[in-house]
Amino acid sequence: MDEVDGYPASAGVEGDPVSLAKKRTQNFTFAKRVFTSTPTLKSTSRIYREFMRGTREEWEIKCKHCGEHSQAIFDDIRFEKEVTAENGRKKEYEVTSAVWRCPKCNGTMTEYEVKRAPAKWVPYNPNALSRGIRSFHINAFLSPWSKWTDQCK
Ligand SMILES: [Zn+2]
Repeated sequence: MDEVDGYPASAGVEGDPVSLAKKRTQNFTFAKRVFTSTPTLKSTSRIYREFMRGTREEWEIKCKHCGEHSQAIFDDIRFEKEVTAENGRKKEYEVTSAVWRCPKCNGTMTEYEVKRAPAKWVPYNPNALSRGIRSFHINAFLSPWSKWTDQCK
């Protein structure tokens, strides 16, 4: 099921489409159920609930300075910007560069280095594996299709 956070509450009069899909796999011993989505609001997000039930694995990159693994999150990206227009108190900026700062040693790596660094899945709820439920999260900062300088516009 792709983009489950965008699913309607009911498939016509048949009910929740996710519950319907789960029921259709019940008779198969080795069935795999895969849910993917860009998350929306935590309070109503289906993918967030499914993620929390699973192993909660995060994609963590290896720092080239200290060798420790960490997530590449917004708070650890340092943006350089220039004022491109000024109208009274209102200013417009253009982001000119961005680097990731390792939360463990404060060493920095470029976007190019981060996206090519050795990395691994780290489970934050490993006990869910005994129930056969793995869940994964990777954020847009590691996407090969977008640049960091474009993500803060
Ligand atoms: Zn480091």
